[in-house]
Amino acid sequence: MLRSLHLPLLRFALSPFHRCNPSRIPSSRAIASLSKSPAIAPSNAFFLASSSRSRSRSVSGAFRTCSGGSETNPDGNIAAAPSPSVGNPNIRFCQACGSPTKQVIPDGEEKVRSVCTGCGRIHYENPKMVVGCLVEHDNKVLLCRRKIEPSYGLWTLPAGYVEVGESAAGGAIRETLEEARAEVEILSPFAQLDIPRIGQSYIIFRARLKTPDFSPGPESLECALFAIDDIPFHSLAFSSVIVTLKMYIEDIKAGKLKFHYCTINKRPGASPSDLRTFDIDYHLHS
Ligand SMILES: [Zn+2]
Repeated sequence: MLRSLHLPLLRFALSPFHRCNPSRIPSSRAIASLSKSPAIAPSNAFFLASSSRSRSRSVSGAFRTCSGGSETNPDGNIAAAPSPSVGNPNIRFCQACGSPTKQVIPDGEEKVRSVCTGCGRIHYENPKMVVGCLVEHDNKVLLCRRKIEPSYGLWTLPAGYVEVGESAAGGAIRETLEEARAEVEILSPFAQLDIPRIGQSYIIFRARLKTPDFSPGPESLECALFAIDDIPFHSLAFSSVIVTLKMYIEDIKAGKLKFHYCTINKRPGASPSDLRTFDIDYHLHS
């Protein structure tokens, strides 16, 4: 069962925005990592969100993009991501020649990788891109109830992995067509969300229905339009969906839609499948 929603965290993360204050909720772990990052020019168009619980600290460095393992299908089959210092034991055989791999640090590198014992190929693990649409229609948003695991029966935005050969926007349109049988037009990018622990980076686009027609695709039990006050937060499928919709509601109520970036980090000790216990570590917006 899902645990109760940590609404206070979201409120901290999404409310009043302050320039040049990193949002680390509640610890300073992410801030520490920022000092190693390239600087953001003061004139950078992005603003950093700060919470009343975060430490107010000027940002001489800026954020770093995150890497890591994989929240669904899209947020995916939820599985613990490999530690950055440990090779991924899931890559046990070479994708090129089929020989077993071993976990070693290749020459000139710092991390353990899965290296083929036959041909020597190094199997790098990089984050996957997930794209989706926040479809607006008549002051409502389109959600799909999942017919597949993980999170069977819970509500999500239409989203999925980008395919090789397609753009992020193209993938979002395709996923919306597949999951909601809805033809949409992209309006603007709305959010990029990194989930380092599971190696996923989300891009969510605002979109509109070309026609008012939609119906559940093979991966959906049902599709429906929800007014923002009726969104079923108690039964959303993924943390990325929770965060996206919270940001959207905040923007709608403030009367201005922004572009958002943040990282979603599970708290230490939280189960990878626990969708509600997370921190929004670094919230930037236009
Ligand atoms: Zn090989």
